[in-house]
Amino acid sequence: MSTVKRGVDQREIKYNLTTVLNRRDFGISTAAFLGACGTTSEQAPENPVAATGPLYLDLHIDTPSRLVSEGLNLGESPEYSQVDIPKMRQGGLTAGFFAVFSPARNKTPLESVKDALRITDVIVEEVRRHPDDMFLATTSDDVLRAQRENKIGVLLGIEGGHMIDSSIEVLRQLYRLGARYLGLTHSGNTPWVGAAEYSDGPEGLTDQGREIVREMNRLGMMADLSHASEQAFFDTIDTSVAPVLNTHAACRAVADHPRNLTDEMLRVLAQNGGVLGVAYFTGMLDDGHRARFSELREIGQQRSAARREFKDNLQRLSEELWKLNLAEVELIGTPPLSRLVDHIEHAATVAGIDHVGLGSDFDSVGLKLPAGLEHIGKTPNLIAAMKDRGFSDEDAAKVMGGNALRAMQAAEQAAG
Ligand SMILES: [Zn+2]
Repeated sequence: MSTVKRGVDQREIKYNLTTVLNRRDFGISTAAFLGACGTTSEQAPENPVAATGPLYLDLHIDTPSRLVSEGLNLGESPEYSQVDIPKMRQGGLTAGFFAVFSPARNKTPLESVKDALRITDVIVEEVRRHPDDMFLATTSDDVLRAQRENKIGVLLGIEGGHMIDSSIEVLRQLYRLGARYLGLTHSGNTPWVGAAEYSDGPEGLTDQGREIVREMNRLGMMADLSHASEQAFFDTIDTSVAPVLNTHAACRAVADHPRNLTDEMLRVLAQNGGVLGVAYFTGMLDDGHRARFSELREIGQQRSAARREFKDNLQRLSEELWKLNLAEVELIGTPPLSRLVDHIEHAATVAGIDHVGLGSDFDSVGLKLPAGLEHIGKTPNLIAAMKDRGFSDEDAAKVMGGNALRAMQAAEQAAG
């Protein structure tokens, strides 16, 4: 039985985190937390990086989940959002794959397909509301146009093969709506492909799965293997005539997370011409930090309670969830930004610099992010950290987006 029910008072009693949980002045608390690296959106310079910095393509942004569940407006930049137009401008984003995600479990196939349509619609409508800043991008040329026109190209990626309900026709319709990658699976529940975690499906890719991957090749829709099993990873690369992506994971040799790529996987990915989008989620970057996640269990329960309590007051919900994120950081801290660079460097060493990119997973992992990279506006800190590590401007530009763009171009050329 849970002793945590709902409401701020009980949380304070339970955790004695009064100073964090009872805050009403986010501005002060957040500024204190974000410290010297922090730049609030009010201080954001007018898009200083995009016009002059490298092409920056994020392979996995989870903000659509928050557009749906918290009603965020991308034109506003509250402290609790990690990806919005001012912060994307501040960070110099050229284009980003916005993830269409619906949980794989506890949904009927029809509900999952409907979610894919509904979430795609929410993204497209949000983009439509901000025509001066964003447009829906579907090709590598669109990404280059975004850079030229100093706008943000919003690309669509489906996160979870359960959302096509094993149907080639649904797959094709999602392509026609703009989706340019499909994460073959999420956490099980996809009958034609094995998942890295919680798998209840086959070990690798079934014959039907191979057929789906071949159709994706024909369309020019990339396979994202972020949540796929190791066997499915090798089977897909064996099947695909186009480069594959792993849009948000890291390196097993640096942190032993089951979704991270082994050195053998990194080498095979390089042979395929594919790209690993290194994820910022500290649970995948740092074993010691992940070991402390068990201390956050009850804050997780509070998060669920807040979702119930404030379901009719979405701004308040966002504020409460943000306070809980801050409480987590107070409890277990965050690894330094150099830990993320360790993974980028390892992937570049094993797979080669041409096969490394970025997949932030912003707006999905709370503040379980490296220090100094709490939102997309802080991306210049990452570029600086790569330079400190000895990456040349040219190599940093490949990681920032050049490699992802090349993989898109190759997938387009392989289509037809
Ligand atoms: Zn994911």
